[in-house]
Amino acid sequence: MDAADSMKATSKSEKSLHASNEVFSHVLSYYKRAHEAKAKKTTKIVYHTGLDPVEIDYAMGLIPMFPENFSAACGAMQLAQPLIEASESMNAPEDLCSYFKTHYGFMKGEFPESLHKALSRIRLPEPDLVVACMNLCRLHPLWMKITAEHYGVPYFSIDAPVVPPRYDQNPLVYDTQWGNQVKHALGKEAIAYGVAQLKEYISFLEEHTAQKMDYERLRDAVAHSARMGEHFREIFELRKNVPCPAGGEDLNTLVFFAVTMAGTPEAADFYARVVDEIRQRVAEGRGVLENERFRLLFDGIPPWFNMGLFNYFHKFGAISVDEMYPETWCAALDPSNPLESLAVKYMLLMAHTASYRAFAEYSQDRVREYKVDGAILWNLRTCRMISTTYVPRAQATLEQDCGVPVLVLDADQVDPRRFSAAQILNRIDAFMEMLEQKKYG
Ligand code: SF4
Repeated sequence: MDAADSMKATSKSEKSLHASNEVFSHVLSYYKRAHEAKAKKTTKIVYHTGLDPVEIDYAMGLIPMFPENFSAACGAMQLAQPLIEASESMNAPEDLCSYFKTHYGFMKGEFPESLHKALSRIRLPEPDLVVACMNLCRLHPLWMKITAEHYGVPYFSIDAPVVPPRYDQNPLVYDTQWGNQVKHALGKEAIAYGVAQLKEYISFLEEHTAQKMDYERLRDAVAHSARMGEHFREIFELRKNVPCPAGGEDLNTLVFFAVTMAGTPEAADFYARVVDEIRQRVAEGRGVLENERFRLLFDGIPPWFNMGLFNYFHKFGAISVDEMYPETWCAALDPSNPLESLAVKYMLLMAHTASYRAFAEYSQDRVREYKVDGAILWNLRTCRMISTTYVPRAQATLEQDCGVPVLVLDADQVDPRRFSAAQILNRIDAFMEMLEQKKYG
């Protein structure tokens, strides 16, 4: 974001990796493939919430689609606001989740031809089945139920425990158990519960697609996802280098494959190429910035309508080196235990279910390993999961348990009306000045 752009509510990021600039064409292909399948009736379209076990869908030859991804794409293409306003004209409350309102406005609204045309490349095909998982957000199951009722299709909700039983008392298991950020062993009963839920989900799909799950294909899909996860995790490992070889402007885009295509060889191959590109940079000692002076954490769903914000940090010699949002999908899996490892990856992740102590340990690890100078928490006022659960806990652990300065910014992920450029940039400027004093005196 240059000086001329800095007062705008919308801007695009400039990415530094070649691979990141290819992502959008893959997004368009993904939507196109789904439309073709729908038109030719070659397979079924299954709507999902953001962090669902889609390896199961891919193993059954189904196409998972994500209304949240659609809303994010609308944000990036500056199309979310009219859809949100369409929802609000149907009495959706102002402080209701803006992802939901973007999709609801699209699903229920009537729009001028110009908006239809603009939406044509990322238009969601109608679903045949609708699924939610209770692993992240209390709105997810309600949102998907409303969607299933709107289209008159079957709906299934996968349950997940809020806090895995006896999480804190169990021994350390880094690298011996799969999943994302799994630090303490999970109780067997928690994994068994997750597996039982996944089996019910498979039965639901079998019933409504009239085909049986082929468990060899499931192992293959989990193997692709495991390979994808290894590469994705390596990207984050490489980012711990100083200077950082890939910033938040790249990672928030690259996450598209991990969200939508876990279980496909395409996603694993793409990340393998990204790893090669980043490894090359690290070998040459090259970072995104020539003179890296500050390393930031950026947590919260990013402002898709204004991703140039990540480039704005560069003018201070600052770079976002780790972000909660893409890191959420960094899971390890064991293909020989497909259902158990999917249960750990999706239903027992510690992203928001961990106790305060476990979360503090996780924050301390992040700060130490990524050599963090400061943190920016993008506080999504319309997302209760972020604003009431994640941000207060992250602020407390980072400030009190890690001694890291934190800047909390109230904003949104797709609604530019909630982005006051002057106010936000002023606060970032002041925060960077404080970090300057703290680090360089
Ligand atoms: S409330 Fe938050 S977590 Fe839930 S759907 Fe909206 S943005 Fe996602």
